[in-house]
Amino acid sequence: MNKLKGIPASNGIAIGPSFFYQQQTVKINRRMIDNPEAEFARLEKSLAKAREQLSAIKDKAENETGADEAAIFEAHALILDDPTLLSKVQEVINQQHVNAEFAWSESIETCAQQMDALEDDYFRARATDIRDVGCRVLRLLTGQSESNLDALVAPSIILARDLMPSDTVRLDKDFVLGFCTAEGGPTSHTAILSKALGLPAVVGVGHEILNIDRQAILVIDGGSGDVIINPDKSTLKSVQKKRKAAMHIAKLDLKKAHKPAATQDGVTVEVVANIGNPDDAVIALEDGAEGVGLLRTEFLYLDRKTAPNETEQLKAYKSILDIMGTRPVIIRTLDVGGDKELPYLNLGREANPFLGWRAIRMCLDKPDFFKVQLRALLRASPGHDLRIMFPMIATLEEVRKAQNLLNQARDEVTSAGYPIAENIQVGIMVEIPSTVILADLFAREVDFFSIGTNDLTQYTMAAERTNDRVAYLGDACHPAVLREIQTVIKAAHSAGIWVGLCGELAGDPEAIPILLGLGLDEFSMAPPLIPHAKAIIRNCSMDKARQLASKVVDLATAAEVRQHARSYISGDDVR
Ligand code: PEP
Ligand code: MG
Repeated sequence: MNKLKGIPASNGIAIGPSFFYQQQTVKINRRMIDNPEAEFARLEKSLAKAREQLSAIKDKAENETGADEAAIFEAHALILDDPTLLSKVQEVINQQHVNAEFAWSESIETCAQQMDALEDDYFRARATDIRDVGCRVLRLLTGQSESNLDALVAPSIILARDLMPSDTVRLDKDFVLGFCTAEGGPTSHTAILSKALGLPAVVGVGHEILNIDRQAILVIDGGSGDVIINPDKSTLKSVQKKRKAAMHIAKLDLKKAHKPAATQDGVTVEVVANIGNPDDAVIALEDGAEGVGLLRTEFLYLDRKTAPNETEQLKAYKSILDIMGTRPVIIRTLDVGGDKELPYLNLGREANPFLGWRAIRMCLDKPDFFKVQLRALLRASPGHDLRIMFPMIATLEEVRKAQNLLNQARDEVTSAGYPIAENIQVGIMVEIPSTVILADLFAREVDFFSIGTNDLTQYTMAAERTNDRVAYLGDACHPAVLREIQTVIKAAHSAGIWVGLCGELAGDPEAIPILLGLGLDEFSMAPPLIPHAKAIIRNCSMDKARQLASKVVDLATAAEVRQHARSYISGDDVR
């Protein structure tokens, strides 16, 4: 038995075999060959298979996502038939007497680099297409697969260096017991995904975890961050007992999940869900969500070759709004960049992506692209309480520009004859310190705030949220962050607008009484966390929560804050 410690990322205990998730890059060796003709014939066979694959994917795309996406695969198929490319490959094989993989990969790369060199977004996107098709053919030639996910056929704990959004969309969630990653912080994508799935996760365990025995049985405790490798019998017995007790409490909480979250002294707050797609919306309602506090629309844009068009987006938003009926639904406009890459947007490489051209910054620079989303949102609104939220707002000019584009989109939708709901609230995420400092000014120009503590903590502490080496700076319970939350709530209430919080802190049992005491109006979290969060709120009294809040903002460290919160929860006096 061996024990490691990581960062607790999603509550719960998982016990099971480990599955090492590995992305596979295609490895190519240069080999001399005797028979160039046979070598080229081998390539032609793989090209034919690639054509078959692309035609099947194209049909699937046409049925599931629409003609735009399907067209990309048609374009990929054309690359396979490009006579200049094929004669170049043939020339390399014939003249150098080298294997087809090598000749193909060299020619593809030369071709892609020529496209890269053209200072135009369109041609750069073609370079990505060429490399993509190139890899498909290389996998067929070498028999190598994209990742080892096909081998995930039994319930397992997924072990990985880290998981990117594009990796996880392909995971068969039925076979995932939990996540354990070597890298990543408490608000990394893996952490958010596991909370959404209600699965335990421990992140930032260190690279040691990647060297353990492939057949190992793991225990991960997403509440404490403990990872046990090959537990002995008595350890296994005690974790199973702990797991059973936690499941019993969860069952009791779930029974009351549909009742309002009212404190003992009768103050009711809203508890809503963070979601990414229609399936999450259904689960959110089952878990007692009173609406949606954050729909991360970027998940609509992931794992595809082109951006979703207006009709596709309209369909997706409408299906979520229909599920939620007349409950409030906050849809956040696209927040890509940082750790969420979209290859087809050609965001380019940046030295500091989290400080770079992400979210609203990119959208304001691409108004036509942005307005597709805004029009789709407005068209989806009739009959619903849709609220639109802009992410990563740092300046008032950004809010004004975004509102301006929203007004333009409104005119376009109206002139096209489509109805729009009246009174759509428009708000911003408060997740950058400049916005906290000027919160009183922002509060005059928007209908609501939603505090994004995941980013607010990383920008306040200057500690990247995905970097496990600085994860000790990533606790949103730090008094510096709590004072920011206090400032924002005060500014909002003085201006007569409401404030929510949709960072991971909103679902953190130790933080909930503090946030309540600070006056937060709306708590938005991963659906599986809702029943317990409501139970905690029902146990609180506003009087005591206010005392706790005013005490903790004067403390010096996050550890002291948590200590105080724990004594509050266990019923000890707050001194
Ligand atoms: C946040 O930053 O707190 C937030 C909710 O947004 P995201 O995690 O998607 O950046
Ligand atoms: Mg954010």
